[in-house]
Amino acid sequence: MNRQWLLASRPQGMVSPENFEWREADVPEPGEGQALVRNLYLSLDPAMRGWMSDAPSYVPPVGIGEVMRGGCVARVERSNDPELAEGSLVAGMFGWQDYALTGGEGPLRPSRIPDGVEPALALGALGMTALTAYWGLAEIGKPQPGETVVVSAAAGATGSVVGQIAKIRGCRVIGIAGGPEKCALLTGELGFDGAIDYRSEKVAARLRELCPDGIDVYWDNVGGEILEAALANLAMHARIVICGAISQYNAETPPGGPRNYMNLLVKRSRMEGFLVFDYAARNGEALAELVPWVTEGKVRQPADVRDGLENAPAALLDLFEGRNSGKLMVRIAS
Ligand code: NDP
Repeated sequence: MNRQWLLASRPQGMVSPENFEWREADVPEPGEGQALVRNLYLSLDPAMRGWMSDAPSYVPPVGIGEVMRGGCVARVERSNDPELAEGSLVAGMFGWQDYALTGGEGPLRPSRIPDGVEPALALGALGMTALTAYWGLAEIGKPQPGETVVVSAAAGATGSVVGQIAKIRGCRVIGIAGGPEKCALLTGELGFDGAIDYRSEKVAARLRELCPDGIDVYWDNVGGEILEAALANLAMHARIVICGAISQYNAETPPGGPRNYMNLLVKRSRMEGFLVFDYAARNGEALAELVPWVTEGKVRQPADVRDGLENAPAALLDLFEGRNSGKLMVRIAS
């Protein structure tokens, strides 16, 4: 049996478990050139909220009645594809289900997971969000030794790796996160130089205190008022990396800001968006640095693992309530 979550309806405002429908289908047969994979772990990503909406984006929306799209680590069960050996581990967009057929080219082509890499690590510290951190810093943030880097959603999957890479690059790093436990994680285990709890502190004022010479690189995962607070505290020639805007994803009306974007002119700064998938062909370069950092413990990624495919919709909601710490994933099978 192939247990699946389908998209049942498009969310209005906050995503809800009621937007999904459970189905039990037959396990599909691999055709010529295809492989049948067994999903082991499903990655949960804020972008999924966007894929559920019928709005223009960088990928088409998931159709109503279709299996919900999602990145997974899977084991090849049966294969008619000479490049995918039975028993090997692969990563790909296999969806919210037990089994999937491979197919497709470019970003849809599954990638092999090197021998010895644990499945959870392949979604976490060596997965898509870690690659996002790597490429956004390498290509847009370009942090230099001695510069001040500020990152929002800093205790999350992407943000925690951004901060740690910036430390490796010789920067001072301040993280913004929700709650005292996450802030303690940042300045303790993850080695950040400072942390701001945006739920209980005034972010703009704390940034002024902690970044007296201004922010050289601001990594934006959240948008909204936190982006405005960062814009108000830029150093000259600052770079703002637009990675995401999770505070806006469930909004029912378009965002009103940022109101103070003219600080970009005053500080001769720029902000630029990017998409990790655009760098897929070069991920070997990123992994050549990330793998030793992870092996040596210079980049640590707390993994937040929930058990059971049936819990995927509730877990997705946790991303928007800040109930995850580190990379959120669902264990489907072992
Ligand atoms: P995270 O693991 O960071 O989880 C999301 C976190 O966002 C939550 O834990 C919560 O942390 C924070 N958050 C939720 N709602 C709000 C809010 N209203 N205001 C402030 N913070 C909030 O997720 P990811 O690392 O997967 O994603 C982080 C960002 O990166 C997202 O915006 C995502 O869309 C983007 N992204 C972009 C990619 C690209 O190619 N451009 C690729 C991958 C991700 P807290 O408790 O601290 O509030």
